[in-house]
Amino acid sequence: MQQKEDNLKSIISHAKEYGFVFPSSEIYDGLAATYDYGQLGAELKNNIKSYWWKSMVQMNENIVGLDSAIFMHPSTWKASGHVDAFNDPLIDNKDSKKRYRADVLLEDAVEKIRKKIDKEVAKGFKRFGDDFNEEEFRKTNPNVLRNVTKINDIEDRMRATLGANDLEGVYDLIIDLGIVCPISGTKNWTEVRQFNLMFSTELGSVAGDASTIYLRPETAQGIFVNFLNVQKTGRMKIPFGIAQIGKAFRNEIVARQFIFRMREFEQMEMQFFVRPGEEMKWYDYWKDQRIKWHKSLGISEDSYRFHDHIKLAHYANAACDIEFDFPMGFKELEGIHSRTDFDLKQHEALSGKKLQYFDPELGESYTPYVVETSIGVDRMFLAILSSSLKEEQLENDTTRVVLALPPALAPYKVAVMPLKKGDGLQEKAREILTQLKYDFNCAYDEKDSPGKRYRRQDAIGTPYCVMVDHQTLEDNTVTIRDRDTMEQERVAIADLNGVFEERCSMKTLLK
Ligand code: ATP
Repeated sequence: MQQKEDNLKSIISHAKEYGFVFPSSEIYDGLAATYDYGQLGAELKNNIKSYWWKSMVQMNENIVGLDSAIFMHPSTWKASGHVDAFNDPLIDNKDSKKRYRADVLLEDAVEKIRKKIDKEVAKGFKRFGDDFNEEEFRKTNPNVLRNVTKINDIEDRMRATLGANDLEGVYDLIIDLGIVCPISGTKNWTEVRQFNLMFSTELGSVAGDASTIYLRPETAQGIFVNFLNVQKTGRMKIPFGIAQIGKAFRNEIVARQFIFRMREFEQMEMQFFVRPGEEMKWYDYWKDQRIKWHKSLGISEDSYRFHDHIKLAHYANAACDIEFDFPMGFKELEGIHSRTDFDLKQHEALSGKKLQYFDPELGESYTPYVVETSIGVDRMFLAILSSSLKEEQLENDTTRVVLALPPALAPYKVAVMPLKKGDGLQEKAREILTQLKYDFNCAYDEKDSPGKRYRRQDAIGTPYCVMVDHQTLEDNTVTIRDRDTMEQERVAIADLNGVFEERCSMKTLLK
């Protein structure tokens, strides 16, 4: 655990040192849980967004994009259930004065027991070596079985209490499990209370005319209220999807862990409209598609797992998360939800406008069901950053820090460098930069020794460096140095665009 926390610290300081992420309003000592993306962070974030947008919108004939306003009519949030039910159960420890989400405390307790099971399995591995049959062991080992029963019991009680908003029941469960505050180590808890997560503000300049509006807590509702606009003007036939990338705001109770949980963040959401009764088929389809999208980035497959929701949101009939092994452990990266016809029906009821689809094949009208995929850009950013940052031991007893970003997402694809100043090398390097910059975001660096310059590019994740030397002036070839292998190869200048296109473009990932 300590190791993991140290990892998060080094990610935060690397992100700051190289211009990826800064604390917001830092000159005023920052604002809790708010961050700014710096010069390289903005590039990486944009690349993540276009990788998602391309794969969702451009690669699917039946999905289109949208960019709706952050402010929406206040009735939207009444209809969606956010005014009445977008609450988190919170609990305070009276000694440390720290506030926690009660459901998160319970989930952490379950995770601890899961870790005990993993430890037991690891011990079995050690004892039996190659003969170890993990499946059999998990089914028969008494310690494992006891802990599995424990987890099932807790999860049953979580379902019963959280699902029914039985706050006393949630409190009792915390007490029964002997959960202590990680800071004070005591069980001196307040009662559990509900807390609404929406930020509100006033619309209009005249006080009397002002009415309360909310900063959207999810981008999805902008899609629902535009469902018919898009369907009609785009002549969309079910099944079809509408995708959107945009900011969302939640007054999180406990906002920490860097950009994992912020009060202002960005979501990439897609609502897929289907025939009623076909939603489970599409739910499975999107689970499969989304995990493939993640895995095509080449990050270790062990870093992902599915987690079914214990407490279903008020609108869902099935829901799961894709969890990622963040520096803080496995946590939600993306949610996939079968939202039924809840949202469209609610908007119909409150607006009085019909939001139905006429299905020409069936010859009837119905309210479509919806399967949603929803991922946080910032969490994706943290997932990429944390899995890419490495300190490598080199042969000559030195180390190097390398940010092994997937090349298609790297802020710079190429850094062009003259071997030294003078002899016409800088001019030649700038010529090459001009040749490349229409296709790729490139850096130019002529300061310090080549070794130092390579290290600088390693630390910001640039996959390739192009070195212009005296031979270049004679035969129009350069060396390309690979970030990950540190190997160098000689390539003709005329071939550079083609080489980088093949190695760094999103096309390679999307195919
Ligand atoms: P959590 O349980 O971690 O609070 P959630 O289940 O409320 O998340 P959703 O409502 O499903 O999250 O939102 C979809 C996605 O938006 C999440 O998978 C996550 O990537 C992102 N997200 C949600 N809340 C935040 C936040 N406070 N900061 C950054 N990203 C967030």
